[in-house]
Amino acid sequence: MRYVSTRGQAPALDFEGVLLAGLATDGGLYVPESWPQFSAADWRAMRGLSYAEIAFRVIKPFIGGSIPDADLKQMIAEAYGTFGHRAVVPLRQSGDNDWVLELFHGPTLAFKDVALQLLGRLFDWALTRSGKRATIVGATSGDTGSAAIEGCRGRANLDIFIMFPDGRVSDVQRRQMTTVADSNVHAIALEGTFDDAQSMVKALFNDAAFRDSVGLTAVNSINWARVMAQIVYYVTASLSLGGPDRAPAFCVPSGNFGDIFAGYCAAKMGLPISKLIVATNRNDILARFFASGDYRKSGVEPTISPSMDIQVASNFERLLFDMHGRDGAQIRKLMGELDQSGGFTVSPNALAETKQLFAAGKADEAATKAMLKTAFEAGNGLLVDPHTAVGLVVSAEQRKSGALPVETPLITLATADAAKFPDAVKAATGRHPPLPPRMADLFERPERQTLLKNDYATVRNFIETRRVKA
Ligand SMILES: *Cc1c(COP(=O)(O)O)cnc(C)c1O
Repeated sequence: MRYVSTRGQAPALDFEGVLLAGLATDGGLYVPESWPQFSAADWRAMRGLSYAEIAFRVIKPFIGGSIPDADLKQMIAEAYGTFGHRAVVPLRQSGDNDWVLELFHGPTLAFKDVALQLLGRLFDWALTRSGKRATIVGATSGDTGSAAIEGCRGRANLDIFIMFPDGRVSDVQRRQMTTVADSNVHAIALEGTFDDAQSMVKALFNDAAFRDSVGLTAVNSINWARVMAQIVYYVTASLSLGGPDRAPAFCVPSGNFGDIFAGYCAAKMGLPISKLIVATNRNDILARFFASGDYRKSGVEPTISPSMDIQVASNFERLLFDMHGRDGAQIRKLMGELDQSGGFTVSPNALAETKQLFAAGKADEAATKAMLKTAFEAGNGLLVDPHTAVGLVVSAEQRKSGALPVETPLITLATADAAKFPDAVKAATGRHPPLPPRMADLFERPERQTLLKNDYATVRNFIETRRVKA
């Protein structure tokens, strides 16, 4: 399997290449040169298999022989063995033909674990083979940092440094990063805001000498391997509800468009899907795009679903590439317009074609809070997290408007455990969501973090001295 850049000017790479590269050298994102095809019989043959077995079959064609089967199987088994539910991603029925796909049973209680548990292992595998070490640096406003840490802890060839804005992440989020004891994990509380942390990461990546000397890499959401790992649960959920002989719809709380793009990949591979519904909070660039064909930045406003507070959706470029006949020159032009004038518009034809598969909706803060309460009351004390609530609002609208026929199963993706966002959940329901038993002692575990000044030399020096040298 070869991968090409959405901007058409970077070299095509194999799986190992895109895994370690992340972003393409022309600023684009890597996508498979062609989509592996599965027939109805292929899908049917997966019914009744375990999550790990289905993951192996779905992922294998994307690896294209880079990794021996036995190694891939072992990494998959280990990655999903860390989940606290036997089904890994269980489906819960929430209405007559409505379902919630619980993606939050991993070590950090959010769906990012599904990708990052596997990604850390894939990285380590590739580095071992090439005899290299890498240093992963990232900035986080909460969820991604802890999931990346959990995915990389204890890996032999990796050091991971995650910066978060001191005092500006929740206690649960901070403790998920600072209570990990492995010596290759470094949680940095940076004086400043999330933007300061993100600028610091950018500065480190722009320092070519430093980048090469420590083998700097990122595990951000543009890494193809993350999208790849997420395709699997669209398959397992569909098969559980009669796929490929029925075509469910999926409603996906979206930020950077990585999660829902994985659903698009599943459809491209031949999995019948009726609709992919993008659900946004009031940071609604995606919902506005699907309504008008105009993709335009506006300021980010904070919400109670912070992991979806984005200005532009980085993975959206992958869909645009397909919308424009995989013409890298057109994508370069659109991205140039986005940089220079804050947005661009696609042709009515391109939009109409995309909307055969995609739909979109948004939930403002009031509707999201009301949904937290409704889910709690209708579900006999069920607590959902605010990101999931955004999805449930949009799902309910799709049903109510008749946009989605009653006979189509509708699966809303639950992207985090309510316990990750206790304040918002308690404010809406009056109930404090408890941590799952395997994490109940989170607040007793010792914390380990380093407070650093927002100063480039200080941070760089810290990374250079703390990492394990090859
Ligand atoms: C990251 C995240 C999302 C958004 O996912 P994207 O892939 O960025 O669209 C939604 N919910 C939660 C809880 C998240 O952590």
